[in-house]
Amino acid sequence: MTESFTGSFTQQEPIPEAGIEAALEVLRSGRLHRYNLSPDEIGEVGLLEEEFAASVGAKYALAVASGGYAMGCALRALGVGPGDKVLTNAFTLAPVPGAIASVNAEPVLVEITSELVLDLNDLEAKAKSSGARVLMLSHMRGHLVDMEALVAVCNRLGVTIIEDCAHTMGAAWNGKASGTFGAVGCFSMQTYKHINSGEGGLIVTDDPELAARMILLSGSYMLYERHGARPPMEAFEDARFVMPNVSGRMDHLRAAILRPQLADLPRQVARWAERYQTLEAGLAQTPGLHVAPRPDAETYVGSSFQFTLPGASADHIRDFVARCAARGVELKWFGADAPVGFTSRHSHWGYVSPQQLPNTDRILSGLLDMRVPLTFRVEDCALIARIIDAEARVPASVAAE
Ligand SMILES: *Cc1c(COP(=O)(O)O)cnc(C)c1O
Repeated sequence: MTESFTGSFTQQEPIPEAGIEAALEVLRSGRLHRYNLSPDEIGEVGLLEEEFAASVGAKYALAVASGGYAMGCALRALGVGPGDKVLTNAFTLAPVPGAIASVNAEPVLVEITSELVLDLNDLEAKAKSSGARVLMLSHMRGHLVDMEALVAVCNRLGVTIIEDCAHTMGAAWNGKASGTFGAVGCFSMQTYKHINSGEGGLIVTDDPELAARMILLSGSYMLYERHGARPPMEAFEDARFVMPNVSGRMDHLRAAILRPQLADLPRQVARWAERYQTLEAGLAQTPGLHVAPRPDAETYVGSSFQFTLPGASADHIRDFVARCAARGVELKWFGADAPVGFTSRHSHWGYVSPQQLPNTDRILSGLLDMRVPLTFRVEDCALIARIIDAEARVPASVAAE
């Protein structure tokens, strides 16, 4: 019998009951705007900020409208502006170059390695040739580069790091939370990330001046005293009259939904690990299929799964993807010629000046990617692995018939 999978790769778990209850309370109060508070009340947004800062071990946190907004806000707070060069991964999703474009800066794309992380040699070369002073580091699909090595390179080059942690909320390198290695860490709570409010972003930093600037930028008017996890009031003194209001606030409704999910994140990370490891084990013996091993230092969140078919032709990969799809297993291929769904490549970003990235192109041309929502049971992941394994064993000549 040929097995098929019938689950949905885009189905998230429901919002926990505690979140639904808290949301109803906000709705009944009628006070949804973050600054619509009674005198002694901190409110759901302020509490979310305090709890998130504590969970990653950062001094300050700011909740905003989206992950993309968080990144643009961080760039603006660092003074990045028109014509400035910003280093970033050549393999990332469109909101990352988009955030750089939002401040009219120019992305300088850095190659990735076959482990899907930033190539530190190319980073150094591009930092020197471009003169860029800021790196927007994208932990794409949750793969962490050697963070101590990266920080050492950036310190030596005088490059400030912003971390895009859209895929690493809950992840760590040698026990230190992702998002706390650079000057600023940016997170997304969009539906397909690790906690879900439809849309949303969080920013963390230990720098009081940057925190103050970002709070003002997010549209705090002069109400910043009411923030959770904010810097001391003196930090706002210089910035308060010069920072523009680039409105992008979080509201109490979304914060109410998020707080119970944040409290539950460690349990969810463990559930994701079980599912990831089931896929990994199920594909460990598959001939011609490679899953990059995860470094020991990395605590990752297995919310997506990547593998390659080394040596397979584009035709063969296209056919393999179609055969898996016919059995209910939805794989995204980063080698496709045109952007499909979320799988865009650097050459699809028409607003970025074309750049030569031979290593990244070669790696992406063989890369397959799969979402792992927590609505999948561990048995589902075992079934998915059996299907991928069986289809990967079909020889190219047979597949082409
Ligand atoms: C989702 C995502 C973001 C931020 O996205 P928003 O939809 O704006 O919250 C940033 N980087 C990556 C890699 C992402 O996947």
